[in-house]
Amino acid sequence: MNGRRRKAAEGEPSCGAAQQHRTYAIERGAAGAPLSRRVFVSLGANLGDRAAYLAAAREALAALPATALVAVSRIYETAPQDLPDQDAFLNQVVCLETALQPLDLLRECQRIEREHGRVRELRFGPRTLDIDILLFQDAESDDPELTLPHPRMVKRAFVLVPLAEVWEHAQGMPDMDVAELGRATTRTQQVRLYDATEG
Ligand code: AMP
Repeated sequence: MNGRRRKAAEGEPSCGAAQQHRTYAIERGAAGAPLSRRVFVSLGANLGDRAAYLAAAREALAALPATALVAVSRIYETAPQDLPDQDAFLNQVVCLETALQPLDLLRECQRIEREHGRVRELRFGPRTLDIDILLFQDAESDDPELTLPHPRMVKRAFVLVPLAEVWEHAQGMPDMDVAELGRATTRTQQVRLYDATEG
């Protein structure tokens, strides 16, 4: 445990046109070395109070042992892609720093999904909360239980566009031009900044 929980910025990101991505301060070990590894996690919700599910996910991730929130992107709204006949998704990417091992973090993400009512009926179908691990510092895996980098991340505008906002926090990640990849995907996939005031 490292006891890091100091927030540089107060409060959660607001929704709407004025929402900003936010960065949180991370304390370091005595020699300035990071105490743990950076991870990018994608959040998605398309049932119920979608923004509340994302907020609950951010809070639950930040509360994991030996884990701190580094940065959060703004929230985007996207039409469903793989299975079109369902409501629009809200999507967001968060950067964490964690001492958890990748599989332990995956299990925690799955627990958080379950605790927020996720029911797996259809692959790519509606869900209250979907949490995917996109990239984990200095980790690659072709294990189907946890594939790293996430196998579909580079094809999805709803991942790449918010990821580009927090990509400056990447450490020990593949050398990718996330902003350019995001721009390329938005030629065929629409993502728009979420405006909570629209209801
Ligand atoms: P989904 O229903 O799309 O959330 O997929 C969940 C399944 O993908 C679970 O069985 C996970 O074990 C597996 N999986 C493989 N790689 C990852 C990853 N990088 N992040 C989250 N789940 C993953």
